[in-house]
Amino acid sequence: MTNPKAPMKFAGNFTQQEAIPEEAIESAIAVMRSGRLHRYNVAEPGEPSETARLEVEFANYQDQKYALALASGGYAMQTALRAIDLQPSEPVLTNAFTLSPVPGAITAAGGIPVLIETTSDLTIDIDHLDAVATRTKARVLMLSHMRGHIADMDAIADLIKRHNILMIEDCAHTMGASFNGVKSGNHGQIACFSTQTYKHMNSGEGGFLTTNHDEYMARAIVLSGSYMLFERHVAAPPKEAFDQVRMQTPNCSGRMDNLRAAILRPQLAKLDANCARWNERYNRIMQILKPHNVIAVSNSHAHAHEVFSSFQFSIPTLNDAQNAQFLADCYKRGVELKWFGDRNPVAYTSHYESWQYVESQPLAQTDQVLHRLYDCRIPLTFSVNDCEAIALIIVEEANKVAS
Ligand SMILES: *Cc1c(COP(=O)(O)O)cnc(C)c1O
Repeated sequence: MTNPKAPMKFAGNFTQQEAIPEEAIESAIAVMRSGRLHRYNVAEPGEPSETARLEVEFANYQDQKYALALASGGYAMQTALRAIDLQPSEPVLTNAFTLSPVPGAITAAGGIPVLIETTSDLTIDIDHLDAVATRTKARVLMLSHMRGHIADMDAIADLIKRHNILMIEDCAHTMGASFNGVKSGNHGQIACFSTQTYKHMNSGEGGFLTTNHDEYMARAIVLSGSYMLFERHVAAPPKEAFDQVRMQTPNCSGRMDNLRAAILRPQLAKLDANCARWNERYNRIMQILKPHNVIAVSNSHAHAHEVFSSFQFSIPTLNDAQNAQFLADCYKRGVELKWFGDRNPVAYTSHYESWQYVESQPLAQTDQVLHRLYDCRIPLTFSVNDCEAIALIIVEEANKVAS
């Protein structure tokens, strides 16, 4: 089958997300009319706020007992680390290929990020993880499902059991994804999610923490800034779980408010349908990029059901000049790519060596993977045909520069 022809220029806007659904806008207006924006500000005793309702719905969606809505995904990760009582300077194993809020959250919670190598499928390198876990005897793994790529979770489950490691999952890009039919986020002790504009639900800023563990959740709720109003949470452990922690746990305010919860509840109802729309777009792009002889794309584990709201590919053969040419030529034709290998952090991509607050730990394999790795968003305002046009432009420019 030959591909259709690429347009001269793609006119779509890569930062344009879909509008917030009308019912969500109405519900936000109702919250503003009520004046009750703070999550604990309810008219009747016992009445759950928008935020408390969202937590119940999200816990149900995730098949977890408890959910806590927070100010951001990065804040959810900090809270998770504090909830497990991370000690000052305690090592936290994490992916070298991830977004800066991950090492940022570990550092903010007082931990030391210990970076793990990356496979060509853009997941954590399990052999390296095993070796570093043995060497450091670390108690905690912050596993980041970066850009939605899910590692072999059976192998990870085996590893954390052998090393007696506590796992927190960074599910910023796996909301709606699963492995072996188990929702992403349910393979460890705690999961963290983001509802920042470029994730799978959009409240501008926001996040969730989920767990089945009574004590972790009681601490997380107090940490999030519940004052002594924790009984107003519904997707929360029983009152007794707070007896021990309520006065021993610092208040590190980072709550979600009712306005953001109001715009998220209708989005949660549409989440699975939107995940399918993302994958339709991603699959069309991959159909075009995968067969190409100089373009390399990652493979998914057979048991992973992933959701891709962006795509990654690499062209390992390009030299520096060709790399710069390729990026510039795609840009001229309206295709905005980000390059993960750039040592100078740009926009939201950042090479792990640019996190200078983390002790330098050169990782040859990750360097190799990131060297010519490119990133592109797929906002849902793009049609499947738009995605086809983007992929065709990439193929033409790759042919031009690599010939
Ligand atoms: C977006 C993101 C987060 C959290 O982001 P916030 O902006 O703090 O909500 C965490 N990890 C990854 C991999 C992300 O992409």
